[in-house]
This record gives sequence, structure tokens and C-alpha cells, in this order.
Amino acid sequence: MNYKHILLAIDFFEQSDSVVKQAKALADLFNATLSIVHVVDNVPIPLSGYGLEPGFETDLTGEIMDNARKRLAEFSKNLNINQSNQWVELGSPKMEITRIAEEKQVDLIVLGSHGRHGLALLLGSTSTGVLHYAKCDVLTVRLTDQ
Ligand code: AMP
Repeated sequence: MNYKHILLAIDFFEQSDSVVKQAKALADLFNATLSIVHVVDNVPIPLSGYGLEPGFETDLTGEIMDNARKRLAEFSKNLNINQSNQWVELGSPKMEITRIAEEKQVDLIVLGSHGRHGLALLLGSTSTGVLHYAKCDVLTVRLTDQ
């Protein structure tokens, strides 16, 4: 098996050095293209319940997307990933990661995985969702909650 296009899924909120290192090592090993994706989760927040105007939500999403693009660009520098292979999407992480993988003809998705608890477990983890929906191979790198 010779992977040609590897997609690294990055969540900025957790320690994911090991995931990044694995993706990079595999891309080097197979001489594959390495791409990167971050999904800004669009879990609906009932803003009206906080007394906020609907416009507030729109502005905040734009700002979050811009910041995510900047962070992804920073991340990509160290990994030598071209701008054309960096994607920031809005939506459900598992759906967007698998959609992008299909659209860009990725043959391996690399992402982290760790035991979930509480609300996150009820909602379902990203790694489980990607494993379920992806049409290509998926490598989940075990993360420790520390
Ligand atoms: P989780 O299953 O939510 O613990 O997430 C496991 C892995 O999925 C993370 O280590 C990331 O590799 C990836 N991931 C989670 N959330 C996102 C996101 N919003 N955008 C891109 N990748 C994500």
C-alpha cells in the first residue's frame, strides 16, 4: 500500500503533537502529499437566550474562521504544507473531515483518539464518526488525557 495523499485533522484545543508527528512521518515515508484540515464546529448556541442579537453570531463566526486560518497557516509552516492544501471548514468535524477527504481524493486520514466521558461521549467523538463515514483508510493516534 502506497499512500499518495494524507490528510491531517487538527483540533486546536488539545495536545496533538503525536498526531502531527505521525502524519508527517507517514507522508515522508510514502513520499505523499500532506494536507491539513481544521473544522470550526457549528454547534448551535442559543444566543437569544443570552440576550444577544443574531448578527453577533455571524460576526463571531467570521472572526473565528479567520483566526483558525491564521493558526492553520502557522502550523503548516513547520510541516511545509502549501496554502492550497490547508482547509478551514465550518460544520460538523466528522462530516467535514470525511467530505474534504473524498473531495480531495485523500487516501489516508490521520487524527487523534482518546477515551471520552460525559457530554462528549453522548454526542459521539470525532474519531468514531470519521471511522464510520470515511471511504478511505483512517489512522487514529491514541492520545492520553493529561
Ligand atoms: P475527538 O474524537 O473529538 O476526541 O477528536 C479526536 C481527533 O479528531 C483530534 O485529535 C483531531 O485529530 C480530530 N479533530 C477533532 N476535532 C476536530 C476539528 N474541529 N477539526 C479537525 N480535526 C478535529
